[in-house]
Amino acid sequence: AKKSGRNSVFAFEKIMEDRVMRRAETEMALKRAIRNDSIVPYYQPLIDLRSGEIRGFEALARWEAGPNHIIPPSDFIELAEDAGLIVELSERLLRAACRDAMAWPDSIRLAFNISPIQLSDRQMGLRIMNVLMETGLPPQRLEIEITETALVRDMDSATAILGELQAAGIKIALDDFGTGYSSLSQLSKFRFDKIKIDRSFVTGFETDKKREDIVRAILGLGQGLGISTTAEGIEEDHQLDFLKSIGCDFGQGYLFGKPVSADETRQLLEHRGSA
Ligand code: C2E
Ligand code: CA
Ligand code: CA
Ligand code: CA
Repeated sequence: AKKSGRNSVFAFEKIMEDRVMRRAETEMALKRAIRNDSIVPYYQPLIDLRSGEIRGFEALARWEAGPNHIIPPSDFIELAEDAGLIVELSERLLRAACRDAMAWPDSIRLAFNISPIQLSDRQMGLRIMNVLMETGLPPQRLEIEITETALVRDMDSATAILGELQAAGIKIALDDFGTGYSSLSQLSKFRFDKIKIDRSFVTGFETDKKREDIVRAILGLGQGLGISTTAEGIEEDHQLDFLKSIGCDFGQGYLFGKPVSADETRQLLEHRGSA
């Protein structure tokens, strides 16, 4: 019994060792991918629901690991955060996205996600402004999207950085609105320019009428505060019809288009037109 106990301790150690090794390898691969720009922004159109025109694109990170192998952000953003690589990754993505956006008409905005961790980095405002200057993208064309956890984590630092960006003309959007435990209180802590209503509310319309009521209430809240609203995850016509009927400003979802490569944005802009 003693011997097999010791063996299982060894077996356990071996498993842990393998796990540490695998993690180190994945981190190395991620670092390489960041440095050789294998992680690139894809773009999903943001639609003005009144005119039906494209008003902007949200940049969404994709790891192009091979010819037919694209790794989604859910598989590497958290790893990048844990490995201390998110600041570098994000800066490279933003630079690429701003360059791509420079090829779009002036009326087309760029929405860019930043992770809560980055709002603890006091240099964040400066980093973003530097990339804008370097690429020539006017701050008015950039929208930064953050989730409410950013404010929960380090309020003072986050509001200081967001305030700096806003003063420079960059718009700040509160992403995934309604999914956290304190969405409403976030609105009193910082003057957001936009609210993005989480996909989970839009998806459930047909099965759950209460979600329609919630979306209607969020729109009312936005209108009361003078904040524009974007609905995420619009996949079906009846969802779009409802959102238009209650006056939602902007929409995004597979109904309009999935995220595409930078090259494909040009075709989209030609076909759909722009304001
Ligand atoms: P998010 O910011 O909420 O982005 C919207 C996600 O919903 C995207 O997933 C998009 O592809 C997906 N989506 C859009 N329309 C539809 C629809 O109609 N139906 C369905 N089922 N899904 C839809 P994606 O690209 O996998 O990104 C996931 C999350 O990863 C993003 O959620 C964002 O939080 C994070 N992310 C992506 N790029 C970056 C980045 O550059 N930096 C950081 N920090 N986070 C990023
Ligand atoms: Ca987003
Ligand atoms: Ca979102
Ligand atoms: Ca999300």
